[in-house]
Amino acid sequence: MTEPMFDVVVVGAGPAGSAAALAAARAGRSVALLERGPHPGSKNVYGGVVYGRVLDELVPGWWEDMPVQRWVTRRSTMVMTEEQAVTVDVRSQAWGRPPYNGATALRADLDAWLAGLAEEAGAVLVTSTVATGLLRDARGAVTGVRTDRPDGDLTARVVIACDGVNSFLAKEAGLFSGRDTARHTSLGVKETLALPREVIEERFALRGRDGLDLEILGCTRGIPGGGFLYTNLDSLSVGVVVGLKGLADSGVRPEELLAGLKAHPAVEPLVRGAELKEYSAHLLPEGGHDTMPELVGDGILVAGDAAAMCLAAGVWLEGVNFALGAGMYAGRAAAAAVGRGDTSRKGLAPYRRMLEDSFVLADHRKLRRVPGLVFSERTQRRYPGLLCDLAEGFFQVDNPRPKPGLGRLLRRTASAHGVRLRHLMSDALTGWRSFG
Ligand SMILES: Cc1cc2nc3c(=O)[nH]c(=O)nc-3n(C[C@H](O)[C@H](O)[C@H](O)COP(=O)(O)OP(=O)(O)OC[C@H]3O[C@@H](n4cnc5c(N)ncnc54)[C@H](O)[C@@H]3O)c2cc1C
Repeated sequence: MTEPMFDVVVVGAGPAGSAAALAAARAGRSVALLERGPHPGSKNVYGGVVYGRVLDELVPGWWEDMPVQRWVTRRSTMVMTEEQAVTVDVRSQAWGRPPYNGATALRADLDAWLAGLAEEAGAVLVTSTVATGLLRDARGAVTGVRTDRPDGDLTARVVIACDGVNSFLAKEAGLFSGRDTARHTSLGVKETLALPREVIEERFALRGRDGLDLEILGCTRGIPGGGFLYTNLDSLSVGVVVGLKGLADSGVRPEELLAGLKAHPAVEPLVRGAELKEYSAHLLPEGGHDTMPELVGDGILVAGDAAAMCLAAGVWLEGVNFALGAGMYAGRAAAAAVGRGDTSRKGLAPYRRMLEDSFVLADHRKLRRVPGLVFSERTQRRYPGLLCDLAEGFFQVDNPRPKPGLGRLLRRTASAHGVRLRHLMSDALTGWRSFG
């Protein structure tokens, strides 16, 4: 039998793929990292916030080198109706010091930095090359990938599919059998808006490299989803993420939702005068834990968005940290399996156990009910109005009428929005069980 060209071929130089290639190369394996774009990050879109602590193990002191725009020292959640907004605003200066909490970063910079680390560790980065399918042996085990290059196929002991949402490789390997991925996919649209640095700092009450991460619920006309606004050094990232099915059923165009968000009275003053630099759109998995594929096959592992490891439930947008974590464990598991000479499904099974023992699957399991709760009709169509009316009623002074008690106000507002208190309690309990 001829020797494979590489121990490990990783498909996709996004965060998952670069972390996988870095971990496998660090463990002494020969690694090829395949990317369809002309350079890492060229095909990728995200909102803009990375929670970097996952890198503590893989890249100690990562904050010294990571291409950061701003350190997130303000995390806010806004719930809105057409004319109202209620915001919870959390600020901590400790988040602006090592080891930091989150950062805004541009995807082209971030992906290039991560892939560069993999290359420094010895991985071979192959760009402008599309993996078009899987190579298999007579038993059906994966033995490499076909590519669109004339000099063609790349053979390997293990393939790690990090090819993002809608992973064709995971599907071809049969790891998604019976799962309807389209039903659990969202579309994100985003604008990058240029604004002078000092205007951003004044407008958002930020100092130096401090940054804001603002997530928004109630800005999608009842279509399951949410919005975001993040501050970069001298630009803003503003976008909406909505479920594909709800979007198709509504007949609304995503750019209309984004225009509506930018025109909202609570948002318009924040983006006023900013100049459009870039418009982009990308799909993302939204279903969480219960929509993940099998993660291990004979000769193949799946990580990141390719395995639906993304929390994209309305006010939540975390995928890069899960992709980095899963990629790191996939790289380590592949390297160890190669070392043991067993890259069968059984030999690669420790990958699943590593994920179970880490935040990657622990967080997804804990929050498995959150997508259902956040995308429910009540959360999307009724709760924003209910919450805003409740807050407005509480803070409104109606003298000479005496102030209503909070209990009465809640009953009255819930009834006006067609929400039964027992449903409100049950949703609150589901939320408490997830976060508690
Ligand atoms: C609008 C939007 C906003 C988001 N905001 C955030 C946020 O603020 N914070 C956050 O943490 N997450 C966010 N996410 C989610 C985050 O972007 C993803 O979870 C994350 O990028 C997943 O990383 P990945 O490496 O698994 O996949 P990707 O980043 O999608 O990388 C996949 C890579 O594979 C390459 N590829 C695909 N197919 C092939 C092939 N056949 N051959 C070769 N190469 C291939 C692609 O070009 C790409 O480089 C957002 C997503 C969207 C769409």
